[in-house]
Amino acid sequence: MNADLEKLIRLQQLETTADDARRQIADHPDRGQALDSRLQHARDLVADVKTRLAAAQEKRRADEKEVSTVQTRLAKYKDQLLEVKTNREYTAMLHEIEAAQNDIKTREDRILEIMMESDELNAELKKREAELKASEKEIAAERAALEKEVAQLEIEMSTTAAARAALVAQIDRAALAIFETTAKGRKGVAVAEAHNGLCTICHVRLRPQIFNEVRKNESIIQCDSCRRILYFAGENAPVAQTTQPAVPAED
Ligand SMILES: [Zn+2]
Repeated sequence: MNADLEKLIRLQQLETTADDARRQIADHPDRGQALDSRLQHARDLVADVKTRLAAAQEKRRADEKEVSTVQTRLAKYKDQLLEVKTNREYTAMLHEIEAAQNDIKTREDRILEIMMESDELNAELKKREAELKASEKEIAAERAALEKEVAQLEIEMSTTAAARAALVAQIDRAALAIFETTAKGRKGVAVAEAHNGLCTICHVRLRPQIFNEVRKNESIIQCDSCRRILYFAGENAPVAQTTQPAVPAED
């Protein structure tokens, strides 16, 4: 194989690797934020139950206080009942007593309901707190994995950059210029495998004469359509992954 062609294929592999790493590193802030929102959501659920529980307790305290007030009033009514002079006063006092007793009963029923509701809320709180604890653990592990991944990608990028610099120094200037111009216009992918008479990236059929030349891998030949540098990996060779863009082929 032509030495420059071989180096350009390798250069393309390095650039694709570096691009992938760069893209993954760029995605990391979003992934970190997704973890933050997951954690916040678990915390909000706990806070929400606590708020409802506090509201229930406050309602209960207010009712208990009122029950005690009404009970004091009721005791007073019962004393006054012994001192009334007329039948009318007596009946009126009985009404007052009955109203107070009804009020107490209503409030006591409500207190019972609030207590049951509080039991449920306490159970829910326990559940949400356990979920939060599990989420915290899970998210911390995911965050650590994410940071490790970034560190590895950064190492990969610097290794790739060093390999790229060493390689570029060995490539013929004219061949490198073709590569760089094409890469700039083709989203960083300047090399394409030719397979079954086609450019495997733009899918345009090569002229038979051109394809025959490409098969020899002896010179730098560009696709007539996408201008990428073509190489041949063999008749039955699987189409190389490294020079395939992740995006659908362009024209
Ligand atoms: Zn092409």
